[in-house]
Amino acid sequence: MSESSLNPVLVQFSIVEVEPVPGRWSGHMAIVITIGKMVNHTFNNHLTLLSIDNQLYFVNSHQPITRGWKINTRTISSAKIHMSQSIKFDNVNTLFSKTLKQKINHYFNNSSKQKTGNRRIFLKASILLTTFIILYVLLVFVPIHWSIAIVLCLIFGANLAAIGFNIMHDAGHNSFSGNKRLNTVLSYSLNLLGGNIYFWKLKHNIAHHTYTNIDGEDHDIEVKFMRIHHDQKLKKHHRYQRFYFPLLYGISYLAWIFYQDYEKYFRGRMGNDTDRFHFPLKERVIFWVSKLLHFTLFVVVPIIFVGWLPTLLGLLIAGVVCGLSLATVFQLAHVVSGTEFKTIEASRVEEEWMIHQIQSTANFATKSKVLTWLLGGLNFQVEHHLFPKISHVHYPALNRIVKQTCEEYKLQYNEFRTFWAAFRSHIGVIHSMSK
Ligand SMILES: [Zn+2]
Repeated sequence: MSESSLNPVLVQFSIVEVEPVPGRWSGHMAIVITIGKMVNHTFNNHLTLLSIDNQLYFVNSHQPITRGWKINTRTISSAKIHMSQSIKFDNVNTLFSKTLKQKINHYFNNSSKQKTGNRRIFLKASILLTTFIILYVLLVFVPIHWSIAIVLCLIFGANLAAIGFNIMHDAGHNSFSGNKRLNTVLSYSLNLLGGNIYFWKLKHNIAHHTYTNIDGEDHDIEVKFMRIHHDQKLKKHHRYQRFYFPLLYGISYLAWIFYQDYEKYFRGRMGNDTDRFHFPLKERVIFWVSKLLHFTLFVVVPIIFVGWLPTLLGLLIAGVVCGLSLATVFQLAHVVSGTEFKTIEASRVEEEWMIHQIQSTANFATKSKVLTWLLGGLNFQVEHHLFPKISHVHYPALNRIVKQTCEEYKLQYNEFRTFWAAFRSHIGVIHSMSK
């Protein structure tokens, strides 16, 4: 796309939210923009703009932006726009996106519902956080028989994953509540679980949600010792990946919080081949403070009260349950038969962004109320990928609208009736990738 063709579009854009962008825009802040509002943030860096349609615009303004500054024709036309390196989706034919967005907006307007979470999500968050505290107190401070402790550790692992799915994930997408500050506070529940929300937003909100199932961009399909995308190099050990994948999924959470976060921190990169990312001092401080807090809460305090062996075993049991849950839910959403793994040529995706999301994502067990409650609607992954800023409590209602619109446009909609059907399909796909 040439510079001149962008100008008329960008005139209407303004900044509503600051998000860091990984990789190739290192040293720059990215801004998620929407149409028709005033810019109300202060930035000292050159600008990277990311539109809500997930078309990436890199605007190097060469001038600091002050509060109240509005992006206008003059400013944009004097900026240098680099489009060559980023992957572009079809931004011209967006009929499907327009129709679907219209229908979804119609649904919310008609029902007078907020797009963010409702009372149900607050109730669920309270239940999950209370369970967390009760289990922690029982496991660390109350002398209980080891057999009961094992059962509690298993539940504790599931509880950690559920906090991730239901509280942290929605809050990280700013969809938990209409109150932005509350979302920010709750998104730090990831740091409480040992992770880092800044890294997560780079990896998940930008890379995974924009470039789903595209090798080299979506770091969620870069699983060590596994081949998930046909663009990834086939190695000998991949032949056995359908046997050893549960082991990798099992240790994924512990590896993430105790190793990979530090690897990212010191390497300054999200993926294997990406550029260094921007890492502000404030985020470095938060990184170390929350890692220390997590270590104290989950390692030091338990060792003092129950000894090192029960602590290690307890951590291992809860960590493996949590890792299996997180990895499985992710994989069943994208790595199953029917979802596409595109090879990108000339940095172009043929489809509009929303169609790409439908092609690369799948639902499972959407009729199961228990799974829907526990997984924070992540069994409705198609709806989540289309509307990540809408809370998961609305996904069952959106599901009907999305399916109907896909039928109208003759688009394949990927959904597995049960968890096990999706799981079997996942094993089939990793088997096919192993040869
Ligand atoms: Zn998400």
